[in-house]
Amino acid sequence: MPQPILERSPILELRGVDKIFGDFAAVERVDLSIAEGEFFTIVGPSGSGKTTLIRMLVGMDAPTRGEILLRGQRINETPANKRPFCMVFQSLALFPHMTVGENVAYSLKCRGIGKKERRERATECLALAHLPASYYDRAVTKCSGGEKQRVALARALAYDPEVLFFDEPLSALDYRLRKTLEKELKDIQRETGKTFIYITHSLEEAMVMSDRIGVMRDGRLAQVGSPREVYDRPRTRFVSEFFGEVNAFPVTAKDGRLWCEPLAMAFDPPPDAPAGFKSGALIVRPEHLHFDPAAAEPIRGEVFNEYLLGSRVQYQVRAGGTTLLVEGMGGQPPATREVALSFSPADSLLFAE
Ligand code: ADP
Ligand code: MG
Repeated sequence: MPQPILERSPILELRGVDKIFGDFAAVERVDLSIAEGEFFTIVGPSGSGKTTLIRMLVGMDAPTRGEILLRGQRINETPANKRPFCMVFQSLALFPHMTVGENVAYSLKCRGIGKKERRERATECLALAHLPASYYDRAVTKCSGGEKQRVALARALAYDPEVLFFDEPLSALDYRLRKTLEKELKDIQRETGKTFIYITHSLEEAMVMSDRIGVMRDGRLAQVGSPREVYDRPRTRFVSEFFGEVNAFPVTAKDGRLWCEPLAMAFDPPPDAPAGFKSGALIVRPEHLHFDPAAAEPIRGEVFNEYLLGSRVQYQVRAGGTTLLVEGMGGQPPATREVALSFSPADSLLFAE
């Protein structure tokens, strides 16, 4: 077994990092430690500061405040080309007039490495990026979208950087190709043992690939944790809602239970409900809301829409003037449009307003 990620020494650290544009904080008070060999993903909505954060790490921008450390050494003043990093952009920025091999070998040529060794090392990098050696002499313009992604990755690997950065590299690709490349990228990261720092606004991408995920909101890191932690134990309502559609019941504390006015009924609080909770939202994911004709205290509603989501089915249920989402694996569809729903308190999340 490899050493657990968080027991490894940090390769990159951010301490109190801010980036201010005029009077606007694009990144604010970010503290983060990324472990050697980790696949770390930064997710967040558009405009939340992901690109700004990564630009500071690679050295394209300087922080307004705070420190960036590489293996404990401050690198704020180290220019981008002196940092052992490489970035893969969404645009890929391949040289169109060159072959695949020339693109990959470019950095080796710049370092004065001879032709024969260049070809050997570039071919190795192609193999690491899951491209056959026969692609070496192909014009890069003849490659498909997915192959171009692999060429860009091979070219980044040829620099032999200690950290590879990716800014939404897959977002322009179609769904199937994205799914394939997500898994491949994770494999390649494991095979090379390099630290990958990856930006995406796609939570699915983040869940599939990452050792840990950092969720950004308005320039701040709202939560950092494993995919399981951020999905199952989101620390804020924002994080819970970022990771998929949810049912949010407005509730107030009443006699040890949670009163939900729109449904005119009470729920039991989750086992880890915050002490002194007064009012807020009880969040239940669609997969945790079940059709349950035998429920003691059901939520009564009416199914008015049904969507097939591939392996899952989602139902829209009208209840007490609100729309609820119920998701199942396709088995046990409700027998009538009038339904009774229930969920286990342990599968709910309570956030104070
Ligand atoms: P993301 O990558 O998460 O979509 P960005 O990091 O690109 O977000 O941008 C975060 C915020 O900072 C946005 O509101 C953006 O308009 C602003 N911003 C980014 N770069 C600059 C800049 N050079 N000057 C002024 N504002 C900027
Ligand atoms: Mg961006």
